[in-house]
Amino acid sequence: MKIAKVGNFSEWYSKILFDAEIVDIRYPVKGMPVYMPWGFRGLDYFFRELEKLLDKNGHDKLLFPVAIPESIFNKEAEHIKGFSDGVLWITHGGETELEDKLVLRPTSETSMYPIFALWVRSHEDMPLKVYQTTTVYRHETKATRPLIRGREIYWNEAHTVHATFEDAAKQVDEAVKIYSEFFAMFGIPFLVIKRPDHDKFPGAEYTYALDTLMPDGRSLQIGTVHHLGEKFARAYSIKYSNENGEKRYANQTSYGISMRGFASVLGVHGDEKGLRLPFVISPVQIVFVPIYAKGNNEEVDGKLRAIYEQLSKSYRCVYDDKNKRPGDKFYYWEMKGVPLRVEAGMRDLSAGKVTLTDRVGNKNVVDIAVLESEIPRAVKEYEKRLFEEARAFFDSHISDADGFRKVQSVYEEKNGFIRTGWCGSMECVERLKEEAFDVLGTERGREGHVRKCVICGKEGKEVIIGKPY
Ligand SMILES: [Zn+2]
Repeated sequence: MKIAKVGNFSEWYSKILFDAEIVDIRYPVKGMPVYMPWGFRGLDYFFRELEKLLDKNGHDKLLFPVAIPESIFNKEAEHIKGFSDGVLWITHGGETELEDKLVLRPTSETSMYPIFALWVRSHEDMPLKVYQTTTVYRHETKATRPLIRGREIYWNEAHTVHATFEDAAKQVDEAVKIYSEFFAMFGIPFLVIKRPDHDKFPGAEYTYALDTLMPDGRSLQIGTVHHLGEKFARAYSIKYSNENGEKRYANQTSYGISMRGFASVLGVHGDEKGLRLPFVISPVQIVFVPIYAKGNNEEVDGKLRAIYEQLSKSYRCVYDDKNKRPGDKFYYWEMKGVPLRVEAGMRDLSAGKVTLTDRVGNKNVVDIAVLESEIPRAVKEYEKRLFEEARAFFDSHISDADGFRKVQSVYEEKNGFIRTGWCGSMECVERLKEEAFDVLGTERGREGHVRKCVICGKEGKEVIIGKPY
C-alpha cells in the first residue's frame, strides 16, 4: 500500500478496496459492485454481531420479498414523495407489461406493513419486533462509491409495532442504545443526532442518526432510527383492540444499519499499510508465519503447525507456508488487516517460544505454553490502541464556531463536525448547501441550547453541521 490515509482518503479508499479484495467494481451495473470473499466475510461477521444484539433485545429474524406492488407502495403519501424519484421498477414479465408494476424495495416499510396489519390484531400481539439482513435498491444518480453510495445496498433493517406513541419512543431509545453498543464494539466513535425535519425519514415523526467522521473529515451516516408514529399504521390499516376492546392504530419504529457502517470500520481504522480490522470481524484473526532456515521447513512446520491447529479450535487462523519471503507475508497480511501474527523459526520453537505481533506493532516473545491464554490479552491491547487512535482523531475534529466566515475558516483548518446555530429556515440551509455543508441536526443530550443562526444571525438552536457523504 504505502498511501497516507489522511490527505488522500479517496485514493486510499479505492486502493484498499482493490488490494484487500473487498469489492470488485468491474461488475457492469453502476453502483452494484461484487463483494469478494475477504470483503463479504468481514461484512457478514459485522452483521452477525448486530443480529446477536438484536436477538438479545427480543427481535426476531425474518425475510420479506424484494418486490412491492405499486398500488401498495403508493399508500403513504410522504413516504412515496421521499422515495418515488429513486426507485427501480419491474415493469414486464417476459414481453407482457405488468398491470400492477413492482417496485424493488428501497426500504421495507411498504412491503412489511400490509402484512403486519394481518399479524397484529390485539394489544397482546405487541410489541412486534423483527429484522432482516438483505439488499434494498435505490436508483442512485449521484456518483457512487463502493459500500458508501450504491444502487444495491446490503443492510440490516428492523421494524417494530407498539400500542402507543410512548412505547414506540421507548423502542427508539432502545434502538439507539443497541446501535451505540454495536459501534462501540468496533471502536467507531459517533454522535447521535436528531435530524432536522427536512432531513428525517420520509413518513417519520422524527429520526435519530449516528454520524461518524471519515479520515477526510466528512461525516458519514452509519445508522438511523425512526419513530413512525401512526402514519404508516393509518396508511396500511394496522389496528389492534385495546384492553377495552376498542380499535386503535398502532405506533411503529424502523431502524437500519447498512454496509456504510462496515465502510466506516475500514476507513476509520486503516493506515498507510492497509486495513486494521477489529478482531471479531476479521475473516482471519491470527496468521501463522513459519521462518525457515537451511531447509528445515519440515521441522519448523511440524512444531508450529501443532500450535496453529490448537488455536484454530477457537479462532479463525491461517498457516502461511507459501513459497515467499517472511517479509512479503507480513506485508500482505498487514495490508489485509489481520489483527495478530504468530511467527517462529527453529531456534524459537526449540526454546519453547514464538513471537506474537499485532497490527499496531506491539511485539512480544511468548512461551508456547501460555500462548493460547495470551490471545485475549493481546486482542484487548490491540483494540485499545486502535480504538484510542480513532477516538483521538474524532474528538479533535469537533469544533465550535459562530458566523459563516468563522465556520468556513474553522472547517478549512479542521474539517469534521462544527457546533453552531441555526434559525430553522430552509433559506439558511440552502446557503450552507452551496458550500457543501449541511445541517445534520441537534446532538442528543444537547437539546434546548439557544444559539444565533450561522447564516442570518437570528436566534436559533444549537446544531451540528458538517459535510456529509
Ligand atoms: Zn438563519
